[in-house]
Amino acid sequence: MTPEKLFHELLGLGLNWEVIESRFERESGTVYLEIRETAKLWELVRCPEEGGMVFCYDHTEVLTWRHLNVFQHRCEITCRLPRGKCRQCGHIFRVRPPWEGLSTHFTKEFEAFALLLMREMPMSKVAEAVGETDTRLWRMLFRQVDAAYAEADFSNVCCVGVDELSVRKGHEYISVFADLVKKRVLFATEGKGRETWAKFVAALEKHNGHRHAITQASMDMSPAYQRGVADNCRNAQVVFDKFHVIKNANAAVDKVRRAEVRLGGKGVWEALYKSQWLWRKNPEHLTEPEQERLADIKNKQLATAKAYQMRLVLQDIYRLPAANSARRRFQVWCRWVRWVARFYKASLLGSMVKLAQMIERHLLGILAHWKWGVTNAFMEGLNSVFSATKRKARGYRSTTHLITMLYFTAGKLRLPHF
Ligand SMILES: [Zn+2]
Repeated sequence: MTPEKLFHELLGLGLNWEVIESRFERESGTVYLEIRETAKLWELVRCPEEGGMVFCYDHTEVLTWRHLNVFQHRCEITCRLPRGKCRQCGHIFRVRPPWEGLSTHFTKEFEAFALLLMREMPMSKVAEAVGETDTRLWRMLFRQVDAAYAEADFSNVCCVGVDELSVRKGHEYISVFADLVKKRVLFATEGKGRETWAKFVAALEKHNGHRHAITQASMDMSPAYQRGVADNCRNAQVVFDKFHVIKNANAAVDKVRRAEVRLGGKGVWEALYKSQWLWRKNPEHLTEPEQERLADIKNKQLATAKAYQMRLVLQDIYRLPAANSARRRFQVWCRWVRWVARFYKASLLGSMVKLAQMIERHLLGILAHWKWGVTNAFMEGLNSVFSATKRKARGYRSTTHLITMLYFTAGKLRLPHF
């Protein structure tokens, strides 16, 4: 068997294509496989317009596709692709070779291999590992994700979660919509306003879903998303998930700490200096020195410690098994917060009082947690999924790059797609 025959078999070229030359270039360390079509090809090819018979019109210049390595050596397929002309309508077109992937520079096998690496490491590392530019790899990922996303099916989507994630620190947000049952990202778009819901619903219906099939919409307490739901999905119950309520409570505790530091007083600054991380943890996760520090702060009767205690009590309500008892406890909690706040000067606990007001205003949606809570785990994990996505797209922080990478890592798309 000649090397050309061997490569013909390995590539699975069949009867329509043949390897006419295989050579190894020592200087570049590259194996080149030159392929040409056989006469048989023309019995098979039909006009893409109306399916008419076709004859060979001419050939393109030499084109190159990167293929999987041969014994650690870079391997490239070269071919002057034939162009066919239709006998009926005269349409001239490039014949698509069976090895070509979705991007014009790679074979299917190479694309599948590169996608496998992209699951595991950042794009820049993949580029380094396979010796390609990351621009080319990104272009391939765009084509693959676009093709797979176009065929994604959203027909059974009923429980949706939405969250705003920051593209850059402090500004520029994208809204990410997720299927809470199948635990996958459905759609992402720039901005965090009510208009993002209209865009989501359009995407949903393009993929066989229906806006009125949505029964649960899980989100934070921002009014924009609530208006978005009201505008678009009449059967959806709004759920304010536990994760966002606790996040708000943490933010309120932090405001108390900063207000207290600003206000000063004997030993306050020393006690609270660099303590913000302490207050985000639960007592059982504190290290021993942290526990001692916390005890010290409590002894000083600081408002921050009181706010922290309020957060813990609030969190405890989520352990209750039934919505009815939770409702009572939330109401008691709100009254307690207001009552305690009166004993602190300069409305130090003002942010906690505001939190109590917010909870009262949104109580119905917060209590919906007891009906739907089990489905919300995915939203909590979404933040870390998105951080990993940002790391993978390092150096390419355009929202298009990030959203494509997010669909790739969390969209549960069928990839590679050919
Ligand atoms: Zn034709």
